[in-house]
Amino acid sequence: MAIIASNFKTNHTRKSTNEFIQTVNNYLVENKISSEVYVFPTSTSLDTFQTVSNFFVGAQNAYATKNGSFTGEIGTEQLDEFNIKTILIGHSERRHILGETQEEIAKKFNFYKELGYKIIYCIGEPLEVKQQGLEKTLEYIYEQFIGIDTNYENLILAYEPVWAIGTGVTATNEDIINVHGAIKEKISKPLLYGGSVKVNNVREICSLNGVDGALIGTASWIKEDFIQILKNTK
Ligand code: PEP
Repeated sequence: MAIIASNFKTNHTRKSTNEFIQTVNNYLVENKISSEVYVFPTSTSLDTFQTVSNFFVGAQNAYATKNGSFTGEIGTEQLDEFNIKTILIGHSERRHILGETQEEIAKKFNFYKELGYKIIYCIGEPLEVKQQGLEKTLEYIYEQFIGIDTNYENLILAYEPVWAIGTGVTATNEDIINVHGAIKEKISKPLLYGGSVKVNNVREICSLNGVDGALIGTASWIKEDFIQILKNTK
């Protein structure tokens, strides 16, 4: 059984999110899909999922707080309104574009862990590290586990090489097998691959040793493509 997760990032309006979820939900109701399906919409569309029950809905981000003075952020008081109990933590765009440090990420992880949230935790190396070889890549990735309880029962990991995210360049099967194999030796949690997964490569990637599913950005935003991805991995 694959775990398939869609990360909308800063895409889709409430209207198009609604169309997406109704279409995908209808497909899931009418077809036997054994995959576990997650969707991470923008926070302004979290409520549009109230009427569907065939997949898990998660927050792309939230602050490590119930409420308070953290301008621009949301906390658990807002997530609770929509019954959101799943969160994405450590995504490379938050690490590299929005400047979240490992310390902040670990703090967020522990806050949401204490509340029992399902956490999809992302790790992955930038290009200049990949170019130094597998050993350096793994060293870099292991540092992204500092402060993270890898035994947490509601944890799913996602290996997302930074150079593969949104670039159209997918990691090779060998890259994926090597990194997933090494992580799996240390941590026995579901491990997704993310980074330019597409309709035409998702089946092969999900069938690789050590790959339990995919976290998908760009290729998951068009509802017909996402349904095709679900068909290709069911
Ligand atoms: C992501 O943002 O998690 C991601 C994997 O993006 P993309 O599929 O566009 O590479």
